[in-house]
Amino acid sequence: MEYAMIDGLLQKQGLKRTKLRVALLHYLFSAKHAQSYSDIKQALGANVDRSTLYRNLTTFEQVGILHRIEHDGVTKYAFGKAHEHGLNHAHFICEECETVYCMEEFTPLQFSVPKGFKTQKVQTIIRGICADC
Ligand SMILES: [Zn+2]
Ligand SMILES: [Zn+2]
Repeated sequence: MEYAMIDGLLQKQGLKRTKLRVALLHYLFSAKHAQSYSDIKQALGANVDRSTLYRNLTTFEQVGILHRIEHDGVTKYAFGKAHEHGLNHAHFICEECETVYCMEEFTPLQFSVPKGFKTQKVQTIIRGICADC
């Protein structure tokens, strides 16, 4: 991915360009699927400060550069917005290799909840075996 695009993204969100932010976005953009915190930490190197990394992941999530997928107590991060059309896209989790794929081409399921309830987030998880397994 072009560094110019990363710069553009940071600038658009009014975020300062730091070495860590650039490396983090570059890594997540190049990764084909969602990465866990430890994947990210490993890729960026041991010197990365834990809380700085968490803070940046949270910031990126808040502004919609990244989104988070939670399953089985593990949080994974993927590049891109979760909320296109106000709803989450589906995720596919491979039961063999545990890779999490974004299924952005799927129209998210819509549920109608009873009166008085308000949906804030719908997380669609498809489990199965991926094409690589
Ligand atoms: Zn797999
Ligand atoms: Zn996704």
